[in-house]
Amino acid sequence: MSIQYIKGVGPKRASRLKKLNINTIEDLLYFVPREYENRANFKYIAQCEEGEKVSLKVKVWGYPTKLRPRKNLNIIKVPVKDETGIANLVWFNQDYILSQISMGDNIIVYGKVNYFGREIQITNPIFEKGKGSKIGSIVPIYSLTEGLSNNEMIRIMKNAINDYAYKLPEILPDYLRSELNLMSIKEAIKNIHFPQDKNRYLQARRRLVFEELLTLQLGLFVIKNRTKDINKGIQFKSSDEVYNFIEKLPFKLTSAQERVFKEIEKDMEDSKQMNRLVQGDVGSGKTIVAVLAMLKAWESGYQSVLMAPTEILAQQHYESITKLFSNYDIKCELLIGSLSNKKKEQVLKDLKNGNIHVLIGTHAVIQEHVEFNNLGLAITDEQHRFGVKQRAVLKQKGDSPDILVMTATPIPRTLALILYGDLDISIIDEMPPGRKPIETYAVGVHMTERVNNFVKKQLLEGRQAYIVCPLIEESDTLDVKAAEELYSSFKDNVYKDFNVGLLHGKMKPQEKDNIMGQFKNKQIDVLISTTVIEVGVNVPNANIMVIYNAERFGLAQLHQLRGRVGRGEYQSYCILINSSNSKISRERMRILQKSSDGFYISEKDLELRGPGEFFGTKQHGLPDLKIANLFTDIDILKLAQKKAEEILEKDYLLLAEEHFLLRQRIIHMFGDRIDDLILN
Ligand code: ADP
Ligand code: MG
Repeated sequence: MSIQYIKGVGPKRASRLKKLNINTIEDLLYFVPREYENRANFKYIAQCEEGEKVSLKVKVWGYPTKLRPRKNLNIIKVPVKDETGIANLVWFNQDYILSQISMGDNIIVYGKVNYFGREIQITNPIFEKGKGSKIGSIVPIYSLTEGLSNNEMIRIMKNAINDYAYKLPEILPDYLRSELNLMSIKEAIKNIHFPQDKNRYLQARRRLVFEELLTLQLGLFVIKNRTKDINKGIQFKSSDEVYNFIEKLPFKLTSAQERVFKEIEKDMEDSKQMNRLVQGDVGSGKTIVAVLAMLKAWESGYQSVLMAPTEILAQQHYESITKLFSNYDIKCELLIGSLSNKKKEQVLKDLKNGNIHVLIGTHAVIQEHVEFNNLGLAITDEQHRFGVKQRAVLKQKGDSPDILVMTATPIPRTLALILYGDLDISIIDEMPPGRKPIETYAVGVHMTERVNNFVKKQLLEGRQAYIVCPLIEESDTLDVKAAEELYSSFKDNVYKDFNVGLLHGKMKPQEKDNIMGQFKNKQIDVLISTTVIEVGVNVPNANIMVIYNAERFGLAQLHQLRGRVGRGEYQSYCILINSSNSKISRERMRILQKSSDGFYISEKDLELRGPGEFFGTKQHGLPDLKIANLFTDIDILKLAQKKAEEILEKDYLLLAEEHFLLRQRIIHMFGDRIDDLILN
């Protein structure tokens, strides 16, 4: 029902509430406070501490007085006491107080404590005579919009709760509520807005968070199951050729790579559509696993596509994959924006008539006019750089092709189940042998010269270096400017005896490729760059990574950047120049020095910084959460995941009567996103 049915809500208020996305009474009841003011924190005067907000029961023991220390300033002072001591209530420019308080009154006050020498003052308190209704409770503070005050919101909410909370459907089945000892929905809604005490508040919140996360997780699981059922996939042939190919590789697969490929192979040979995420730290060797899958697709007569987030990376994949397939009749092609029109046309034509077996490219491969002959396998590399939508479009280029997504951004399983809830997950949790650990140093700005000397020494020995300057959040242009400045100063001064190159995001793809090519061919010794080199670039001779203003990067991102070195036979170094003195940034640097485990690092990053943009639910195509926080509520999330699995084990499609309302809620929560997610 529309919010206009609530007492005190006319068209005007309704339109203001609409601005807060509150359209129905249910929306309103689920509109939880942003924070609370605890006016139930009763203390004695002697217990009051400087700066805290307290409630006091006091008696006025002297005459209220008015001081006028200067023009435009009236101070009302009221002396009060309780069994433990005395204090002054103080108001500024609120003369009307004088007519409301007299000597001998018993009053309740709520306000902030200030000490002036030995005098205790409560400044601008709110007060009530008698038993009181404003003080002594926990007061909700709502996010508001213009023309709507917190007090109005409280009144509206009280009416809504009194008249409608009992009508809220109990979507959690009884057995679950009693097993987990969860409050009823009615109690929970009451107590989330107007908690009787802290404990009831916590219980109310726990119930609502659980409800929300259970709905989210169940929805994602159901979607995943549905997708699998609906989308009859391709059944690829089983083959020995892949294993011959593995035999001939210049290295032995790690057992993690073997295991993950087995998982992929099983998916591919199954008649269901594969939807698999491969997570593996930088350098763990994800590409070769994708290559095996492509070989397998080719054997069964299907085309594959590999989409990478940058031209540099696409180019690099193209080169190495062409080489790997050189003994086969596999035609690989590259499709990127910077190709000449003529070349593009040729590629598109060959793709459509099936002359190309493996297509490698950037976003260019998902453009409308790109048509495949029979796409059987679609792979995205560095998935975190793409949105859910792009993955969906890629998928539609074929008739239920198998889907493989690869990412180097490690996230804990609990979160992966949510953020990639529609995917099965494989993890490459082992590094190829013989990698020398990268020596990582964090230094202050005063060490810059020594760092430069160290870099020069390595360059003289024939190595190459990356120097990364930070992304300046709000402005790509500033970002580029910083890189350009650093470049021209290095080129003419510090590194004047070497070849210095510059790479940044604003360059034309062609230029970038040129520069990257020169770096690969060792025509450039020192590459000054923004974070565009973050993903995938592979130059084994480069063994130093210097990162300026390292404190501005996420730890996971620093770890990715560091992954650009340590790819060859030489001892590699990562030098983090930290220009902040804060304790937390020193601690963050220390984590990188200590660990080379991407999972550990990203967990620590979460602890220290909280979830960054990457974890935005929107980017992952997920519904907004109203109450729960995926990170701080991780324990409840785990519980919800466990229960969701149990529920679906019993009732695969949530068709049982006791799950009917849960099902409705899922549909409500996901709305039209359900289509997007199922398409995925
Ligand atoms: P990422 O997982 O970061 O994409 P890559 O697939 O680019 O890593 O692999 C990094 C490097 O490791 C490549 O040069 C690749 O040839 C090499 N590599 C992959 N697997 C192995 C292995 N089992 N043994 C040795 N080297 C390997
Ligand atoms: Mg890679």
